[in-house]
Amino acid sequence: KNTLESKVIKDLQAMYDKIDEIKLQKFVDLPLSIKTSKGLRESEYITLTDIQKQSIGLALKGNDILGAAKTGSGKTLAFLIPVLEILYCHQWTQLDGIGALIITPTRELAYQIYEMLRKVGRYHNMSAGLIIGGKDLYFEKKRMDQCNIIICTPGRLLQHMDENPLFDCINMKILVLDEADRCLDMGFEKTMNSIIENLPPVRQTLLFSATQTKSIQDLARLSLKNPIYVSVHEHA
Ligand code: ADP
Ligand code: MG
Repeated sequence: KNTLESKVIKDLQAMYDKIDEIKLQKFVDLPLSIKTSKGLRESEYITLTDIQKQSIGLALKGNDILGAAKTGSGKTLAFLIPVLEILYCHQWTQLDGIGALIITPTRELAYQIYEMLRKVGRYHNMSAGLIIGGKDLYFEKKRMDQCNIIICTPGRLLQHMDENPLFDCINMKILVLDEADRCLDMGFEKTMNSIIENLPPVRQTLLFSATQTKSIQDLARLSLKNPIYVSVHEHA
């Protein structure tokens, strides 16, 4: 690994403890890699939303998160920024295989996350892949072992885990469960449980859900370790 970059990474990580969620306003106030900062700036993301203020610092520090915030609150960057930074800090390369797995209920949502990742993550030397089946099978032709960040729907992911010998996530560092309540509403509870049981136990997990139901609590118990609960309420 690159020793000069190791020093830069150590300096960034040393600043994580100084992140003050109360004072935090802009992405430039966060200790982020130059690659992510540039991607954000060029995509014209300047000011953090509430859920981003509350969760990015905690995620950078390595915590598991159970996040609650309504649709449109900016949850995608709340998990994509930590995903990029965590893999960057591991000096992840194309050769290192799957480092992050992002599970979302529908193909449309997966595609939106993929597009956002391509914008904000454009300066990173990592590749992203979609596993969503259907018409978009094209994206799956890329060899799975060359993808570093996988964005997928639950059913299709489980199918790959069961049937694709190139699918190997033994080294993965971070799991994101996006719109977890919708995944459960769509009947993916057993699929999600099977996926989680197949993942390496040592990892960081970020779970986002608009609602906090009993079944979300069950999923949280299965997938998270000492999670920090982050909730953003609407102001009247
Ligand atoms: P959610 O997943 O919570 O429903 P999204 O992550 O899809 O929300 O974000 C909703 C919209 O807000 C998107 O169009 C996104 O580009 C925009 N957005 C997200 N974060 C920011 C930000 N910090 N500044 C400006 N726009 C943002
Ligand atoms: Mg979303």
